[in-house]
Amino acid sequence: MGGAAPQARRQIDLGGTLVDLIRIGTFRSDAGAIFGPVPRTTWEPLVRTEIDAESRLLQALNLLHVTTPSRSILLETGLLPAGTARDDAEIQSLAAREALLAGGVDIERISLVVPSHLHRDHAGGLANERGEAAFPGAVVVAPRGEIEAVASDSLRARAAYDTATLRRLFRDAEPRAYETTLSLDSAVELRALGGHTPGSQATIIRGTARTLLFLGDLFMRPWQANPRWVTSYDDQAWISVDAKATIFAEAAREQWLVAMSHEVDTPLGRIERDGERFRFVAE
Ligand SMILES: [Zn+2]
Repeated sequence: MGGAAPQARRQIDLGGTLVDLIRIGTFRSDAGAIFGPVPRTTWEPLVRTEIDAESRLLQALNLLHVTTPSRSILLETGLLPAGTARDDAEIQSLAAREALLAGGVDIERISLVVPSHLHRDHAGGLANERGEAAFPGAVVVAPRGEIEAVASDSLRARAAYDTATLRRLFRDAEPRAYETTLSLDSAVELRALGGHTPGSQATIIRGTARTLLFLGDLFMRPWQANPRWVTSYDDQAWISVDAKATIFAEAAREQWLVAMSHEVDTPLGRIERDGERFRFVAE
């Protein structure tokens, strides 16, 4: 998929449950911020062909549309409000609603929208260009800690979240909040992990044949299979490290598929143990 069109799509049959992994676009992020505590001399060789003249990486905007036997669920909504699109050096993307419609998804059937966290590049498509709900028939699901982080309207929250739009959306239609874990149905489990944001969540999708894990920005690119490699954007980096180590151990043991939030070329694979670290193997 690398170097090709900004949009791409792959369907994964987990057995009874289908996952559409949809890249709705790409954007550019400062590489140093993405590698966080990792020294440039260590990370630069890994991204030499990807980095641009301004030291930015090419990041995908990946969504997962999940069809279980009983529900249609959207994970992530991308960066742009519905009704908009961008095509410039920094952002080449459709809004989630338009990308799903173009892909033939029956968006009226989507009953739950589950952003991994509410940062702009994951929750931007919850609204349309007028700030109204882009998926008015669906309920937004998030850990209570994430909703409280938005409501706090702190200096740090205002830098990372579109707090004004989210607060208005949540006033009009109350999100479904949970504390630690929530089963959306027999196939989909949510876990509030924190780390990247106070309410970063993991989604675990179980079919009869395979299980797929999605961690949002706790696992955005393959090299972050090392639990210590967290981004500068992680609010609680020490929590990210422990959360990743724990859930990667489970993913490796159970041979789960793992999908990444911002990987362009190989967004799907599995996690293997590598001493006290882990490594990503594309599938
Ligand atoms: Zn992100």
